[in-house]
Amino acid sequence: MRSGDVYDAIPKVELHCHVEGTVRPATVVELAQKNGRQLPSEDPTELYRYTSLNSFLEIFWLVQELLVDRDDWARVAYQSVVDAVPHGLRYREMFFTPARHLAAGQDLAEIVAGLSDGIEQAVLETGARCALICDIDRAYGGGAGLELVERLAALRRSGRGERVIGLGMDSTERGVDPRDFADAFRLGESVGLRLTSHAGEDTGPDNIATALDALRIERIDHGLAILEDEALTRRVAEERIPLNVCPNSNIIIANKYERLEEHPFRRMRQAGVLATLNTDDPAMTDLDLGKEYRTVARALGMPWSEIEEVALDGVEATWLSEGEKRSLRAQFERELAEIRPSDPSEVV
Ligand SMILES: [Zn+2]
Repeated sequence: MRSGDVYDAIPKVELHCHVEGTVRPATVVELAQKNGRQLPSEDPTELYRYTSLNSFLEIFWLVQELLVDRDDWARVAYQSVVDAVPHGLRYREMFFTPARHLAAGQDLAEIVAGLSDGIEQAVLETGARCALICDIDRAYGGGAGLELVERLAALRRSGRGERVIGLGMDSTERGVDPRDFADAFRLGESVGLRLTSHAGEDTGPDNIATALDALRIERIDHGLAILEDEALTRRVAEERIPLNVCPNSNIIIANKYERLEEHPFRRMRQAGVLATLNTDDPAMTDLDLGKEYRTVARALGMPWSEIEEVALDGVEATWLSEGEKRSLRAQFERELAEIRPSDPSEVV
């Protein structure tokens, strides 16, 4: 066995991954040709370089604009799942952020139908499962956020939105007050959507607390700043509010830390927080789930036994029913028992 393959074999849940961030570089070029868009470089790996969260978002938005019709959405959703399965993906709750597509005249029903087509095909081929979380793009403001959720609610009423199980929020964080989106989140909650939000990726712990209180979110995406606030850390730990953390992304995209060794992921878990591991935008950061687990384990000195706990905590943090969680956890425990090294107290 090649070194590191055991990390690919760990069964995994992924709760923080953007479909637009999973588009293969070759697909970026093909979509640009198909849809008549000019790329700033013919070599997409040139595009995938960033100096800050905002410089990353410019590229992310460029890739988003390449998704024009139902087939485009289906294609990227399909590829995103089949690309992740060899690295251990068993179940994912995946973001899509349709703000700029809706502003350009696309139909939310077509976007969701395309994503669902691609996922269904991938599920048939791989057996992995995938639900969707519709993200509000903060940069478009509270009014657009509410309008998006109104469309989502209508889609659910018409029976065409069942794959979308949650509402989230992403994009630029600085200078945006989470409270502007309270109406959108209340409407989402009233139609049965589960709630999460990116918070504390690029700002302090106040933004996490505000998102928890004003938006009543059930999970936090990133939440990097949490350890700066002891009382908030205790609250999140006691209430088992999951933090969906993406350590490699925080270095490559948000430029929050110089090196993975400085990342607070393990300290979050040692403080009792239910922190999960995720790739965020894997195609844009040359990442996959196996690499995420492997690099984090080695950089932070996490023994195998702790990594098993991370994988199992992923199941707890999902929005599956209690029965589905129990059966997925049992499956994970069986698979983990098969690959467990002789001394799980060591870093592999
Ligand atoms: Zn994200």
